[in-house]
Amino acid sequence: MNDLLHAFKKCPECLANLKMDADRCHECKTKVGPVGKRGIAKRPVDWLGYLLAITFSTAIVYFIWWAFLK
Ligand SMILES: [Zn+2]
Repeated sequence: MNDLLHAFKKCPECLANLKMDADRCHECKTKVGPVGKRGIAKRPVDWLGYLLAITFSTAIVYFIWWAFLK
């Protein structure tokens, strides 16, 4: 029983049972990280998306400054 609990982790999006070494959910294609609390997989940090978001917001702030405040 315990072995079964530790053989799977759950997808954080759809709670599908995934193998411990899976890096992507086979149900909803969400990327999943290592298992966290309560057997639910952690979401991996999307550094590229994070970087793009920062770059994008900086560009918008710069554009507003350039367009209205210059
Ligand atoms: Zn899923």
